[in-house]
Amino acid sequence: MKVLVIEDTVTSATLVCHQLTKMGLSAMHARDGESGVVMFKRERPDLVLLDIIMPGMDGFEVAHRIRQLEQDGDWTPIIFLTARASENDLQRAIEVGGDDYLVKPVSEVVLKAKVGAMQRIAQMRSALLVLTRKLDDANRELTRLSSVDGLTGIANRRRFDESLLREWRRASRTGLPLSLLVADVDYFKPFNDNYGHQVGDECLKAVARTLELKLRRPTDVVARYGGEEFAAILPETALDGAIAVADAMRGGIEALAITHRLSGAAPVVTISIGVASMMPVRGDENGFVALIKSADDALFRAKKLGRNQVAACLDSIEAEIG
Ligand code: GH3
Ligand code: MG
Ligand code: MG
Ligand code: MG
Repeated sequence: MKVLVIEDTVTSATLVCHQLTKMGLSAMHARDGESGVVMFKRERPDLVLLDIIMPGMDGFEVAHRIRQLEQDGDWTPIIFLTARASENDLQRAIEVGGDDYLVKPVSEVVLKAKVGAMQRIAQMRSALLVLTRKLDDANRELTRLSSVDGLTGIANRRRFDESLLREWRRASRTGLPLSLLVADVDYFKPFNDNYGHQVGDECLKAVARTLELKLRRPTDVVARYGGEEFAAILPETALDGAIAVADAMRGGIEALAITHRLSGAAPVVTISIGVASMMPVRGDENGFVALIKSADDALFRAKKLGRNQVAACLDSIEAEIG
């Protein structure tokens, strides 16, 4: 541990440095305030012993400067070591950033005890800093986990809800269209029953990966909406663009060529997708509910028309034409 002694009286400084060395500490001496601040900057000591009355910059000013030099989260204990015994001086010393105040002459026992106490506080403090950093990391990881689907690794329902609300609000400010895709794996129950739940899980992972690959913009989000249902939010995208993305997704899943003997739609795993697009009206905060409903209705039609296909919401088409 490095201790910086800032003291103009050489005899007094020599004595204190000698005592510190005996305690096994490494002592440095600065003979006035200015050189004390310079030495503090250069050496970054673990503790400062600071005199008050010195020619030029006094101890109060030195303490103030040291506190200004410290970065966020830094702290170097400062013990005032002075001949001035008034309560006013003690009060001011603490106010400018001092941590303790000793009146000279200080016995070796008192100095050792006080230095030891400061060391202990410094150690607890740095342990706390390490812990705080770990906690910050853990919190960040928790936040990430709380928005990610455990099985597929893509966004989960919670993140989907947040994103949709945010994008809906943004769209209602910008006046640009917002599109929503709702996708559902075809005949997935018989797939699970026939091939087993684990194969079903692997299939869902592959589907999620493929859907994500088909997104075009960094602002697009695809999420696991429920069991074997997925949803994609496409900001600033009109119906034709959304249909193009949905077609690419549907084709991508079919191209995975995951065998599905019990599907009524194809010999492989397929998905059906409902597409809806809306131009939010300014101030319409809850319109996204209607957007979900439209996409759901479209999905229902895609299923009814034979699955493994994309269907668009009729309202959206009318709005595009009209
Ligand atoms: P449809 O073509 O009409 O969508 O028929 P479907 O069989 O896919 O529809 P249904 O909603 O009846 O079946 C969904 C099935 O998805 C139920 C369950 O077996 C399966 N499933 C849901 N979540 C999971 C999951 O996390 N893992 C696995 N392996 N299967 C799941
Ligand atoms: Mg002095
Ligand atoms: Mg379903
Ligand atoms: Mg299904």
